[in-house]
This record gives sequence, structure tokens and C-alpha cells, in this order.
Amino acid sequence: MNIPFNKPHLTGKEVHYMYQAVYDGKLSGNGQFTKQCQQFFQDRYGFKKCLLTTSGTDALEMCAMLCDLKPGDEVIVPSYTFVSTALAFLREGAKVVFADSMKRNPNLDAETLEALITPRTKVIAPVHYAGVACDMDAIMAVAEKHNLIVVEDAAQALDSYYIKILANGDDSQTKVNKRPLGSVGHLGAMSFHETKNITAGGEGGLLIVNDERFIRRAEILWEKGTNRAEFFRGAVNKYGWVDMGSSFLPAEINAAFLWAQLENIDDIQTKRTLLWNKYYKLLKPLADEGCFNLPDIPSYATNNAHMFYLTFPNLEKRSAFIQYMKENGVLTVFHYLALHTSKYYEDKHDGRVLPECDRYADTLVRLPMYYDLEVEQVEEICKLISMFVRTC
Ligand SMILES: *Cc1c(COP(=O)(O)O)cnc(C)c1O
Repeated sequence: MNIPFNKPHLTGKEVHYMYQAVYDGKLSGNGQFTKQCQQFFQDRYGFKKCLLTTSGTDALEMCAMLCDLKPGDEVIVPSYTFVSTALAFLREGAKVVFADSMKRNPNLDAETLEALITPRTKVIAPVHYAGVACDMDAIMAVAEKHNLIVVEDAAQALDSYYIKILANGDDSQTKVNKRPLGSVGHLGAMSFHETKNITAGGEGGLLIVNDERFIRRAEILWEKGTNRAEFFRGAVNKYGWVDMGSSFLPAEINAAFLWAQLENIDDIQTKRTLLWNKYYKLLKPLADEGCFNLPDIPSYATNNAHMFYLTFPNLEKRSAFIQYMKENGVLTVFHYLALHTSKYYEDKHDGRVLPECDRYADTLVRLPMYYDLEVEQVEEICKLISMFVRTC
């Protein structure tokens, strides 16, 4: 067996659309494919304003700029995340206050959130780990109470939802309110890196603006701090430098690549979900034996099949597992090292211990998960895991 951890999926139309973009003669950003992709997200998910970016990191940096932070302002970020979530705010001069994960899954613990708030807190940046929603009602309630901006790191959360069951007062019928992740906070960021569910040709991202007060400035920051967008709309008769921006927009060939993937989003999601469910079904009886735990998806969250992970009781067991799988030709990988203990941040951290985050850093392992993985390969992987469990 020789199964990689990830393999980017091609739908077949990518090169065709890139060719089209090239021969249309409009190569820089904000052309037809960019507009089509942005419109797709606005229509399908009800995001108020979308701007394609060259990466998820870029989209987070734009979010941080839009928050207009002053030196000493504080931003609450989970420690169990990718560096970009914290980096974007640090770059704007903010102090990052790391939050712990929940016991049930790696997402930011909304229950201990309020204890982290000080008069300097300006932003909360929840991360929907593995595309599974954070407890957004609880987070939004804290944000509203303290007048904070919420930036959703929805890098992994494409096509996933926060669910609320609304009981009807007058009869027994219940209504389900589903909100796409990225649409709940004031601002959001997605990633189209090749390891995510869909890709813009390797690197790409999306800025999501839900609060209208940020739209005008977002368009300006996106195009190097110029009011070019207003000029093209005819709102001003010349454009110039009006703010501190940067070059966040991707070239058209990346948008063209992304468009081919977006056209197939339902097919991609269906296949990934099939694989995820297969893993879950085959591994459930093994997990019940107590060697490892399966992902826990709360009733307020959906599953976008971004990732399938296991957690082991300790670091030694996880290392043994990764080694065993590798020897048998299957690449499984651990994920984040806790940011509060990272080389770059450990002397800046306030010294609090974040036990759940540390536990995920030591015990979580991700299994191969990509569109071109076959159901039969998932069965073989699970068979290997059952053999490992016997030694457990
Ligand atoms: C992938 C990822 C990012 C960064 O996205 P890039 O497109 O690689 O810049 C940020 N946050 C999280 C949680 C991610 O998974």
C-alpha cells in the first residue's frame, strides 16, 4: 500500500478555464473569473461581500487591518490553530491572548471565553477546526455584550454550517436555522490551499465581509489602498491613494482554476462525505474498545468532511500509530503545535496553561482524506488500524 496524506483533486476543467483566461487577454486580478467566483459565494452562502485573495493568510490579514487595531489592543485566538490566525493580528500591533480548546473538540472553548476579556479586548477570532462549527451563538453573545468584532477563521469550513433548532411555540414542529460558516461573524476568511476541500491552483483565499460598515474599506485595502473600485463604478472621477492597503487580489488564472472547482463543489463534497462516513462507520467499533477517540461533532454543527482525525490517550501511543501506519505505506500526520508554546511566541505568552490545547497537540492525528481516495482504500486503512488496535 502507498497512500499519501493528501492529493489535490482536478475536476478536468481547470486548464480549460486557465487557457480561456490567458487568451481573453486579461491576466491581472479582478477580471471575469474573479467576479464569477465572488458572486458564486455571495449567492450560494449569502455572504454580503466577497473578495478573492491570494491565500487564506491574506484574507486574515485583511480582516485584521479592517479591525483598525491600536497598539496594546487585545485579540482572542485559540492556541490550537495555524500560525496565520495569530500572525495576522500580531502584524497589526495587537496583543494575542490565547484561548484553550474545548474538551470535546479542538475548537475555542466559549465557556471560558469571557474570563479572557479585558477593557483592551477588541476582537475574537474563532477557528472552525476541521470545518466543524464553534459555538457561535455563545461567542456572538459575548462579543455583543463587550462590543467586540468577530473574525471567523473559516479556512477549513467551506460548505459547513452552524445550526440552530428553533422550537415553534404554538405547535410541536421544529424549524432548523442553518447559517453557513463565515457568515456569522462580522468578517471571515477561507482558504483554497491545496490541502483544503477545494483549491485555487495551490494557493488562494477569500475575504468575507458580513458587516456592511467594512465593505468600502475592504475594497480599498484589496487594491493597494486605492479607491479604484469606486472609480470603476463611476462614483469618483479619478482614483488615487486613500489608505494603507496591499496587493491582495489573485491573478485571473488562479480564479479560473478555482471556478472549475466551484462548478463541481457538490460532487466534491458528496465524495468527501462518503469517505468520511465510511471511516466513521468502520472505526466506531474500534474506538469503542478504548484505544482512540473519534471526532465529536456537536448538534449545532455540520460536517464538511474536511478532515478525519483520531485522538490517542497520549503522545507515545500517537507516535507508535504514525510509525505503524508509515511502515505499512499509509501517511498519517499530526497537526498543530500549540502556538502559546511556539518558539516565536512563548516569551510573549502570559504564562497561562492551556491543557486541552496541549492535549490535542500531543494526541491528534489526521488520516488520509482527499477526493481521489477510494472507498476500498479507506477499508484497507481501517483494517490496518484494527491490527494496530490489537497491540494497543
Ligand atoms: C489553511 C489555514 C490557514 C491559512 O490558509 P492559507 O491559504 O494556507 O494561507 C489559516 N487558518 C487555518 C485554520 C487553516 O487551516
